[in-house]
Amino acid sequence: MAEGDTILRLARRFESTLLGETVAASAPNPRGKAARIERLDGQTLEAVESHGKHLLLGFGELSLHCHLGMSGGWHFYRPRSRWRRPRSSAWAVLSNEEWEAVQFGGPTLQVGPTARVRRNPQWTRLGPDILAADFDPEAVIPALRADPTRGLGDALLDQHLVAGIGNIFKSEACFAARVDPWRAVGDVSDEELGKVLIAAREQMLSAVELGTRHNFQIYKRRQSVCPSCRGPVSSRGQGDANRTTYWCPRCQG
Ligand SMILES: [Zn+2]
Repeated sequence: MAEGDTILRLARRFESTLLGETVAASAPNPRGKAARIERLDGQTLEAVESHGKHLLLGFGELSLHCHLGMSGGWHFYRPRSRWRRPRSSAWAVLSNEEWEAVQFGGPTLQVGPTARVRRNPQWTRLGPDILAADFDPEAVIPALRADPTRGLGDALLDQHLVAGIGNIFKSEACFAARVDPWRAVGDVSDEELGKVLIAAREQMLSAVELGTRHNFQIYKRRQSVCPSCRGPVSSRGQGDANRTTYWCPRCQG
């Protein structure tokens, strides 16, 4: 699942492969044609920007906006190497002589004039990026409490409040900070909210640096034991979207 760490890692991959390069662009799958991917053919990748779960690739007057959701992904291949998925299923292929960046699936893929792409509310309404160099938890805490009755685990997923945390790091960060994700945010102290945000940031930055995620402590450990107290891990759908939250009632009680 693509959370902020996946997207930051992806941005760095673009920086080390295609940034500054003039690319060939194609859209083997009709979904990519609808996204106007082919308009990028012959354009130069001038800027790479990640914010939360969103990626913007800047080609001067044109930009590509991408959100991978639960199922989308970018693969990087050397030319003429074997792809892990059929070519016909690729929505976008951006390539030079050394690399092919291939995109499959996801809720958002669109090429448009840069000014319009940057005005898209999907981009402008994002909260502060939890992985930004200047991320300040203090600045996010009042927003997280805007609806004081909302459950912490649900509020952490609201990309308008803080951008980048997804379902995995929601559970992992609350466990690391030993805060119950079911508590109403109005009842969670500033110190506890700060701990949760810092834990999420550190876990995700670590995943970016390692190039892979750590073994999860609590996520998808249903019917398993808590690595700290050996008690049972609980899980239940939370919030309007009913996203499963994992927690240890003993350690996070
Ligand atoms: Zn426990």
